Amino acid sequence: RTPAAGIKGTSQERTFIAVKPDGVQRALVGDIIKRFEARGYKLVGLKLTVPSKSLAEKHYADLRTKPFFNGLVDYMTNGKAPVVAMVWEGKDVIRQGRRMLGATNPLEAAPGTIRADYCTSIGRNIIHGSDSFESALTEITLWFNENELADWTPSNAEWVTADN
Ligand code: UDP
Ligand code: MG
Repeated sequence: RTPAAGIKGTSQERTFIAVKPDGVQRALVGDIIKRFEARGYKLVGLKLTVPSKSLAEKHYADLRTKPFFNGLVDYMTNGKAPVVAMVWEGKDVIRQGRRMLGATNPLEAAPGTIRADYCTSIGRNIIHGSDSFESALTEITLWFNENELADWTPSNAEWVTADN
């Protein structure tokens, strides 16, 4: 059984990806899931949730001294739209997830990345992705219970991963 937080550096590495409320409002959930699925990553956790203030504050704990912190927490938790919280598994998924998202400021994000393709504002950049194994571990544990994560083997696994 794969540990809830995955195994760093293997094809069982896991990352926490969340479509933020603006991404949900803008009906981008399907496209975002499609990109991770199409790349060959495996979905092991998925839920629609309005996070509590305490959860959002923990999730963004490293930013608590920033001037935008209160606005950020309100945007994530005010319930005008839920968050789609996900755990994705696969080779190098933490780093690749960040590359697929693009830079935090969508105006600096490379064309073809999610943020460059769908947004222009740093305060409404539609998606979150863990930035390291340590953050992935913390975030997966914060957002999901162990029994909410599915251990399963896609039937195409051998067509997605091999070093030959
Ligand atoms: N953020 C913001 N204003 C800023 C910087 C960040 O509203 O000037 C928000 C934005 O939603 C960003 C989140 O805070 O995605 C977390 O910031 P971080 O630097 O961790 O960026 P990320 O890891 O999301 O790329
Ligand atoms: Mg971050």
